[in-house]
Amino acid sequence: MTGRRPLVSGNWKMHLTHLEAIQVIQKLSYALDRTDRQAVDVSVHPAFTALRSVQTVIDADEIPVALGAQDVHWEEKGAWTGEVSPVMLAKLNVRYVIVGHSERRQHFGETDDMVARKLRATLRAGMTPICCVGETLAQRDAGHTHDVVVGQLRAALDGVDPAAVAGLAVAYEPVWAIGTGRNATPDDAQAVCAALRSAVGECCGADAAAGVRVQYGGSVNAGNAAELLAGPDVDGALVGGASLDPDGFAAIVGAAG
Ligand code: PEP
Repeated sequence: MTGRRPLVSGNWKMHLTHLEAIQVIQKLSYALDRTDRQAVDVSVHPAFTALRSVQTVIDADEIPVALGAQDVHWEEKGAWTGEVSPVMLAKLNVRYVIVGHSERRQHFGETDDMVARKLRATLRAGMTPICCVGETLAQRDAGHTHDVVVGQLRAALDGVDPAAVAGLAVAYEPVWAIGTGRNATPDDAQAVCAALRSAVGECCGADAAAGVRVQYGGSVNAGNAAELLAGPDVDGALVGGASLDPDGFAAIVGAAG
């Protein structure tokens, strides 16, 4: 790791009512207090319905965790029934926004173009995108991992100011490893994260490549985090299932520090 602070993000997906989310953030606060961690940024990404409740607890108790969202629309406002705008999220002190999660690409037809719009809209609203990329098992078996993830990343970053790219996060999440209990090997995670960083260098310059944080995601848990996050180009983790357990998530944060 070369001067970059790791970022460990908990994607709570479609779990936890706002009341349950309050309990989890409070327990996480206690668990992090007991965790030996240094210079690690932490974010949690509740469902939209729980954002306001979690924000209130974070602010009131001064919990050292940033608020994140799982998705966003690209317009500021308008006739987009059911959608949530970047301005609405920014007003809730949302700092990080996941864009292009594979579950959105797979189940909701999100295209590279939509991901690119969401990424730019997130930046315009002053928040940090966590841009997810990842290959399916078929793509991996066909030897296309590198082309797929670099292609997704280039599409997402098209036209973005290189100075802004230095501040954003990218999550390498092999689709076959999400919620399956299967992981990439630590060497694979490092190799793909390094390839993503060099793709950032090619499109946006050396400063952007040195600054961008590249997370690994896919069945990360307290038992495997230390080895998966050990690579010099792996700057933390995007964690789904294991982030619902405050003690386990705090242990992942500890492993990243
Ligand atoms: C995710 O949702 O981004 C994720 C990586 O999930 P899991 O940790 O459950 O595989």
